[in-house]
Amino acid sequence: MEFEAVIGLEVHAQLLTKTKIFCSCKNEFGAPPNTNVCPVCLGMPGSLPVLNKRAVEYAVKAALALNCKINRYSVFARKHYFYPDLPKAYQITQYELPFAENGWVEIEKSDGTKKRIRIKRIHMEEDAGKTIHGEGFDENSYVDLNRAGTPLIEIVSEPDISTPEEARLYMQKLRDILVWIGVNDGNLEEGSLRCDANVSIRPKGSKELGTRTEIKNVNSFRFIQKALEYEIERQIKVVKSGGKVVQETRLFDSQKGITKTMRTKEEAEDYRYFPEPDLPPLIIDDEWLESIRESLPELPDQVKERFISDYGVTSYDASILVREKELAEFFERAAKAYKGEAKRVANIIISDLLGVLNEAKLDISDSPVTPEGIAGLLTLVDNGTISIRVAKEEVLPEMVRSGKSPEVIVKEKGLVQISDESALREVIKKVMAGNEKAVKQYREGNEKQKQKAVKFLIGQVMKETKGKANPRLLNELIPKVLEEG
Ligand SMILES: [Zn+2]
Repeated sequence: MEFEAVIGLEVHAQLLTKTKIFCSCKNEFGAPPNTNVCPVCLGMPGSLPVLNKRAVEYAVKAALALNCKINRYSVFARKHYFYPDLPKAYQITQYELPFAENGWVEIEKSDGTKKRIRIKRIHMEEDAGKTIHGEGFDENSYVDLNRAGTPLIEIVSEPDISTPEEARLYMQKLRDILVWIGVNDGNLEEGSLRCDANVSIRPKGSKELGTRTEIKNVNSFRFIQKALEYEIERQIKVVKSGGKVVQETRLFDSQKGITKTMRTKEEAEDYRYFPEPDLPPLIIDDEWLESIRESLPELPDQVKERFISDYGVTSYDASILVREKELAEFFERAAKAYKGEAKRVANIIISDLLGVLNEAKLDISDSPVTPEGIAGLLTLVDNGTISIRVAKEEVLPEMVRSGKSPEVIVKEKGLVQISDESALREVIKKVMAGNEKAVKQYREGNEKQKQKAVKFLIGQVMKETKGKANPRLLNELIPKVLEEG
């Protein structure tokens, strides 16, 4: 029997606000333990939460970017559980009435097909603190409450995901959008985006859902795919050997690449949810909602389509350019500054500039090369001042190193292309004298061998001139000089 998987993801995304969701403590990663805390986020009796307006704004922004319907009226609730990182013994979250529902995102699979994953709901909640133990510590567990009260949105998908690859792509897409609109820093290693996955299997084509397990707290794209691959295999083995999948919460062990039982799954009633009496219902009025909608930038998928239609960039190049907002903006500015085909701008950015920046450990946002510099560099190639090879191998790396304009670098380093016919003839003659075999091949060979010889001699002249010979002129001149003998 063949099986298929049914997967739903719950993604927790931290919001990039300056302060926490219910108090004015700093929301920052990496501060010394228990320094960003106050009576509210420590859960002291008698302290009262006050909702951070910016957190709501960011949450709404995210929900709009994810095509959700915004509920004008939503309610915070208490979710009770006991754990050392949760001093109040309840988490403030939203339960029956979340602020956003019914959205979707589109993923593009490696074979180019697109799939829409529906989002069931998004709610706001506070993060818990962190328990720290293990390597570098003694046998005790320690609690750091700096993270307690960090604003989160939990994005709950419908079970529309059918493969581990789709799960990874979906999570990546959420990250790209949230970072693009500036509400999340996208830093998975620091826990800015964490994922729980619900997964079950069923006979292929069946409509019924199998018993599901939940894999908790996976914080890398690679691990979500690996954890699901393992868990689906495991469930299939259980069923094929006549057993039954048990509903439970499992942990992914990234070292061993396996999932392990953590605890049997709780039901919603175990949490004794009830409306939070210390916070009034959240009401989002029309005017505010509209102003948030207007503040949304054009989203990556829209920008990608525009790059293809307006600038003639290939779909593949466009998808690379929209991976980061700064990169997309860089490309567009360079394309506007350049008089030639924008495709060439995309090409030099993707296949050359990004590599040189990467080697210098620089991001596009702190690139010493400006978009206008890229346009200027290509213009120097177009008007014959330098060859494309010199542009890529000599001028561009120097632009990254020194931040100087391409025009200045070409002048300072004497890189101007040799387009003077008599000067080139001299070099060609010298090269011919040193490569008699190729000369002979040209004179005595057939058409194919002739072409081969010309190609070889062009390479030699380029070597001799350090890439400065005008290649178009060389193409014409070399056969001429050979014929003249
Ligand atoms: Zn606080």
